[in-house]
Amino acid sequence: MAAAGLVGAGAAGQRPAHSASGLLVENVTRLYPVRVAKVVAPASVQDVVQALQHWPGPVAIGGARYSMGGQIGVEGGLHIDMRAMNALVWLDAKARTVRVQAGMCWRDLQDHLDPHDLAVRTMQSYANFTVGGSVSVNVHGRYVGHGPIGASVRALQIVLASGEVREACRQQHPDLFRAALGGYGGLGVVTEVELDLDANTPMERSVVHAALDDYPGFFAAKVRRNPQAVMHNADLLPPLFDRATAVTWSSTDKPVTVPERLVPRGQGYGLDKTVIWAMTELPGGHQLQHKVVRPALLRGQPVVWRNREASLDAASLEPASRAQSTYVLQEYFAPVAQFAAFTRGLARVLQQHGAQVLNISVRHAPPDPDAVMAWAREEVFSWVLYYKQGTSPEAQAAVGRWTRALIDLALSHGGTYYLPYQRHATPAQFAAAYPQADRFRAAKAVWDPQGRMTNMLWKQYL
Ligand SMILES: Cc1cc2nc3c(=O)[nH]c(=O)nc-3n(C[C@H](O)[C@H](O)[C@H](O)COP(=O)(O)OP(=O)(O)OC[C@H]3O[C@@H](n4cnc5c(N)ncnc54)[C@H](O)[C@@H]3O)c2cc1C
Repeated sequence: MAAAGLVGAGAAGQRPAHSASGLLVENVTRLYPVRVAKVVAPASVQDVVQALQHWPGPVAIGGARYSMGGQIGVEGGLHIDMRAMNALVWLDAKARTVRVQAGMCWRDLQDHLDPHDLAVRTMQSYANFTVGGSVSVNVHGRYVGHGPIGASVRALQIVLASGEVREACRQQHPDLFRAALGGYGGLGVVTEVELDLDANTPMERSVVHAALDDYPGFFAAKVRRNPQAVMHNADLLPPLFDRATAVTWSSTDKPVTVPERLVPRGQGYGLDKTVIWAMTELPGGHQLQHKVVRPALLRGQPVVWRNREASLDAASLEPASRAQSTYVLQEYFAPVAQFAAFTRGLARVLQQHGAQVLNISVRHAPPDPDAVMAWAREEVFSWVLYYKQGTSPEAQAAVGRWTRALIDLALSHGGTYYLPYQRHATPAQFAAAYPQADRFRAAKAVWDPQGRMTNMLWKQYL
């Protein structure tokens, strides 16, 4: 089982299903499928230009489809499936920079980088996501001090709804660049992404257990100010979420103890899936997690290549079926000073509502100077919830109730919530959580004046 923590759910290789009244575009959770009118899978920027020029109506874009609330589709619209645009444009190993087509997934990019001892600077905990989808969500990972991916993005090539191709960076069309980072496809189709890279170093793992009130001090002194610390997260476990297990990967000169340089594709993960099933289905699942699973996962001080730890496969989390229940993520952000108070409130809401949360992964981000729709408007901790829910309308409604309670909690602590997940927020909660949305609307009015670039997220909230 992936030692990154139980923070995700399943592979998303689905192709749209044909149906009598259109095509169904699904995401990883199988919740919120979107019925679209047409699907195209471009292989080049010219294909994207043509698709946009030949389609008069609304347009939504899909990458690897791990967002969870219809962010990749719009009812009756055109769906642009970016996964065939997965070529390397160029790699400058000496300058540690790379340019790729936006439909490339991280795992494919790692195949290009690893022979040069290079690594992606900032990405999620798993390697299945597309580069364009990651930029458009402005994702983050466990990298100490990095914050969202935007800081490592040098330039974007964007095709506007009109079919015009624009190069955007901090010097050229900076307003388009900043709105497209975390823009959820609302500005245009990102066709190429240029990124800064890092060295692929060996990293050694260390584990420290801390009381909630002590964790921020521990993090500031031993992680944030430690130049060797590369990746870090803290796990909070059910049922009480009252103690942080802090896991840090630090660069080291020691020889690797795990020689594998990248996680191979296509593994079965039978044991991992059985363990997750047992923790959520069997009586005493919490005890199993506390007494057996976690100690086994965190035993020893392995030394691994950074690329190996960054190439984990979300297939390890895919349940046998998502028909009756599904595994889902949510994420909240709050200023660092609110860590213990927010965590206690979070635990209280989850317990009150009987939410079946397997794990909460805490991360940190400095303020984001780039994205218009930034989720880190000051230094924040983030809480990533990995949970199981039923797929019935009643189960979805129940999740909606506790999600809205958690959004209120985050807002009351000066925080916000993450947008790639289910759309349970009220419009008023969205407005309070993203007060900068008017600046995004203004950028959209300039670059997409007819409002064609959209999806179910932007239709609901923008
Ligand atoms: C198991 C799992 C683990 C996760 N871990 C993390 C994590 O560690 N950190 C984190 O921040 N998030 C995490 N997420 C959330 C995930 O990062 C986002 O959903 C991200 O968007 C996934 O990339 P994707 O290629 O699947 O994008 P998609 O879901 O396909 O698309 C996301 C959004 O980007 C837009 N988009 C996609 N491609 C383009 C393009 N080329 N041009 C313009 N717009 C585009 C889409 O329209 C959509 O609005 C996780 C999700 C799962 C399921």
